[in-house]
Amino acid sequence: MTSEVSQAHVSSSAALFDRAKAVIPGGVNSPVRAFNAVGGTPRFMVSGTGPYLFDADDNRYVDLVCSWGPMILGHAHPAVVEAVRRTVGAGLSFGTPTAGEVDLAEEIIARVAPVEQVRLVNSGTEATMSAIRLARGFTGRSRIVKFAGCYHGHVDALLAEAGSGVATLGLPTTPGVTGAQAEDTIVLPYNDLDAVRATFAEHGSTIAAVITEAAAGNMGAVAPVDGFNAGLREITREYGALLVMDEVMTGFRVSASGWFGLEGVAGDLYTFGKVMSGGLPAAAFGGRADVMASLAPVGPVYQAGTLSGNPVAVAAGLATLRAADASVYAALDANAKRLGALFTEALTAASVPHRVQFAGNLVSVFFTEDEVIDYAGAKAAQTWRFPPFFHALLDHGVYAPPSAFEAWFVSAALDEAAFAEIEAAMGPAAAAAAAAKEPS
Ligand code: PLP
Repeated sequence: MTSEVSQAHVSSSAALFDRAKAVIPGGVNSPVRAFNAVGGTPRFMVSGTGPYLFDADDNRYVDLVCSWGPMILGHAHPAVVEAVRRTVGAGLSFGTPTAGEVDLAEEIIARVAPVEQVRLVNSGTEATMSAIRLARGFTGRSRIVKFAGCYHGHVDALLAEAGSGVATLGLPTTPGVTGAQAEDTIVLPYNDLDAVRATFAEHGSTIAAVITEAAAGNMGAVAPVDGFNAGLREITREYGALLVMDEVMTGFRVSASGWFGLEGVAGDLYTFGKVMSGGLPAAAFGGRADVMASLAPVGPVYQAGTLSGNPVAVAAGLATLRAADASVYAALDANAKRLGALFTEALTAASVPHRVQFAGNLVSVFFTEDEVIDYAGAKAAQTWRFPPFFHALLDHGVYAPPSAFEAWFVSAALDEAAFAEIEAAMGPAAAAAAAAKEPS
């Protein structure tokens, strides 16, 4: 924790946070927003436009969180806002099928070849929860393999050694998940095919699915090593288990067809969220038509949702995907590289041990000289350098993820002016990281 007080005026955010803490646990509706790992006052944002966020005290920040991924076009993109306005004017929710849902399903299927059918849900958590249930129902098996440091939402069975906020708060697991809910979950080290092979050799006939982030982004950016996803494909096929590629974070961000577009390894099931919702609550799971045919009302595996396929969320998602042309993906890639280069330059100049890693255009910086390929490596970095690094950026108008275990999300809206601000902030941030003292 840092006791450093931000130089920005934060009195309105501080007052809102006090009110919030009285009525919302920790004052936030998702833990990592609370700044617990970095200390200080979470900023209450009021508006966003292009690459910028504005808080309740009228401070402006270059946004490198992008709502944890969805906002690839930047904030309040005119095409998305217009699509939402148009849709809202025609009513908010009907509880019936609508044409937009078909359009969005077709758009997803057209982009990700192994996906033949999709079902829309409301959050990434719901998508992975449903995909796991479907995999169990389809195979008639109970066990699930997941990897340490991967986060698949707060599904009971998938919280063991999870990344994201669970890693940020240093929780090995969480009370409230019973032994029974967790006992069919096998947690293995990420990027370790030998461990997967050994587990399948012992338990193969009882494993319904392997679920993996197509490229890990929830312990920082940790790409699969060469052959890892392909190996998972082979092993699951050999044993009749399903491969669930979680592309909630990578989907439609790292390429028009997500990580699949970069690597080409086909999963049986996919989960999507974030970008495909344009910033409103929508997500999806999908995959092989024969597997999806097990879902109600066609098959026996039940899954449902009052607001699933909500017209407004669908409109925001469709408008985002349609506006995300080749130039947007080129900008995302270039901006991630440029951010990575700024990390390297500033931290090298300040003699801070560091490693900049990419998973497509997800980028993160670890305070270690060693390549990070798994959760153990991510945890072994000098994470105590992160809070002062983060706060120096914040004080200089750059909003970074408030956790050493999160990827940084660029948008295509970052322009020369925004990069000039990031560059100006990076020197003081690197100096703050250099001056950080290891807690005794
Ligand atoms: N899967 C991955 C890879 C994620 O990164 C996340 C969220 O960060 C989820 C699932 C859960 O999505 P949601 O927060 O929409 O429930």
